[in-house]
Amino acid sequence: MANCYICGCASANHRREVYTGRSSGWFWSRRSYGQSYRSYYGLRTVCVDCAARIDRAHSRNTWISILIISLIILFVIGESNSPSKTKRKSSYPIGNHSGRVVAFSGLNIRKEGSVKSPIILKAPYDAGLTILSTNGPQDTIQGKISKWYNVEYEGSSGWGWGLFIEVEDN
Ligand SMILES: [Zn+2]
Repeated sequence: MANCYICGCASANHRREVYTGRSSGWFWSRRSYGQSYRSYYGLRTVCVDCAARIDRAHSRNTWISILIISLIILFVIGESNSPSKTKRKSSYPIGNHSGRVVAFSGLNIRKEGSVKSPIILKAPYDAGLTILSTNGPQDTIQGKISKWYNVEYEGSSGWGWGLFIEVEDN
């Protein structure tokens, strides 16, 4: 029986990787080059109690690592599913954004968000608009579903069908 490297008791009969000390010097660290410490570890003979303590600390560190990695994975999955990235267009319910007419035939701007509502004015293809809201009534036109957008064009405001308008990031 040898003496325990950690507590010094006389009944050491286990071998464990233990901290054996540190030396100070000039080392490259992740932050900068400067005076720092380097820790050393080695196999030493320890008693049964100290071996159990080392094993507990090791398993705790393993679980903390698993927990941190799990949280990172959950965060990454959450980010990739976040609505701000996948549904950018409808994420502007209110507020002023610029937009552009993407229908080659131009955009009919109507008094209300409905095809039955009278046309106030017509904006040509590629005309710039101010988008006041993308959260108007939903309509199906020629088999396609979209909401009506409240828009402003040349000083007048009205409603244009959303599929004919591209919301610009600004
Ligand atoms: Zn010991």
